Amino acid sequence: MYWDKETETMGRDELEALQVQLLQKSIRQAGSSPYYGRIFKEEGITPESITTLDDLGRIPFMTKDLLRDNYPYGLVAVSKEQLVRLHSSSGTTGRPTVIFHTGNDIAEWAGLIARCMYMTGVRASDVFQNMMGYGLFTGGIGFHYGAERLGALVIPAGPGNTQRQIMLMQEFESTVLHIIPSYALHFIKSLQELHIDPRKDLHIRMAFLGAEPHSEEIRQRIEDALGVTAYNSYGLSEMNGPGVAFECTEKDGMHVWEDSYILEVVNPDTLKPVKDGEEGELVFTTLKREGMPILRYRSKDLACVYTEPCACGRTHRKITRIKGRTDDMLIVKGVNMYPVQIEKVLMSIPEVGSNYQIVLDRKDFNDHMTVKVEISGEVFTGEMQQLDHLKKTIIERLRSEILITPKVDLVEPDSLPKSEGKAVRVIDNRHQWG
Ligand code: ADP
Ligand code: ZN
Repeated sequence: MYWDKETETMGRDELEALQVQLLQKSIRQAGSSPYYGRIFKEEGITPESITTLDDLGRIPFMTKDLLRDNYPYGLVAVSKEQLVRLHSSSGTTGRPTVIFHTGNDIAEWAGLIARCMYMTGVRASDVFQNMMGYGLFTGGIGFHYGAERLGALVIPAGPGNTQRQIMLMQEFESTVLHIIPSYALHFIKSLQELHIDPRKDLHIRMAFLGAEPHSEEIRQRIEDALGVTAYNSYGLSEMNGPGVAFECTEKDGMHVWEDSYILEVVNPDTLKPVKDGEEGELVFTTLKREGMPILRYRSKDLACVYTEPCACGRTHRKITRIKGRTDDMLIVKGVNMYPVQIEKVLMSIPEVGSNYQIVLDRKDFNDHMTVKVEISGEVFTGEMQQLDHLKKTIIERLRSEILITPKVDLVEPDSLPKSEGKAVRVIDNRHQWG
């Protein structure tokens, strides 16, 4: 079912009661895995002993390292006959983690994504061009199944090959795109170079942006350039992939589907819960997964949660845009910052093009930060004076956001490395010799 009004608008008390009931089931299921079987015994945890959401605190946190320690089958809670698919994380921060699914898990996941898409107004009459990577990565296949469930016509384009993407959009009149934000910026540039006006020449009305941190400024650029409404889509392979949290048409935070996941937000140092509106690390528990239930997974992703009911009528709590992972934090000259802060500044300057890179070096025991910024073609070939002025503006705005003065290099369009998957924004050379 992709439009489950009753569950989506359930009162909080009722929703939390449902979560406790599903949590008990999930604990029973998890107990069949070698890892949780052992942990539950050691900690004296039984499904019956968990009677409130506060009792969740008795269960130890799960981390990427613990998943790696129990690789490959240590958390699998069913027989191999019941498993039908595996996926892995992208490996952004080390060896990828692997998650196993049963047929029911895949069906549940597709249902969640269909729910997300329906919420924003996608219908069976839409043509959905899925420009996200297929394969072990969860972004492409996850949405593929969700969109099919909804009955949309799916074009499994995958990323890259911009000319072919445009051809598909034109011939089949695609109305909805799913795309990684950094690739969307390259794609837009290619449209401009080919003198294609998306408003006149294409039929796209909506885009889903996900898989990597991106600023509101990037969303706006994409919306303006393509003439679409863009929605933020959040997920992680450990919790299936996309479909964990998604923006509704209010575009003011992403609803976390709390009938499938319990969300906790904790201080990453003390691991104590933070209050609504305070930034913390998102911690997730699967409530319905059979193949590989995961309890209290520390995502390392930072955001705030809000409990007030949304104007759309849904009661499932909302999280803010993800600021980054705890390990994305850069400490430069003793000052803490996140790459997305730099992006926010750059993308609010119209002369800045579609790509940037942050390079960190250490010379004479000092940190040096260089921000390489692609600028638009006309500006690059324009007057020296204009370039100098632009550079000064960028430096000043960056300084007021990140509190240190970086070196800024203005570079030609297309000169920085591109990626069809998650963008690599930071090159940190500080730990190398020499
Ligand atoms: P990996 O953890 O190796 O990157 P995944 O493919 O599972 O592999 O990626 C999940 C991660 O991607 C999330 O934990 C989060 O850091 C990031 N991510 C996914 N969607 C978004 C989004 N909409 N905004 C910000 N970050 C996102
Ligand atoms: Zn809403």
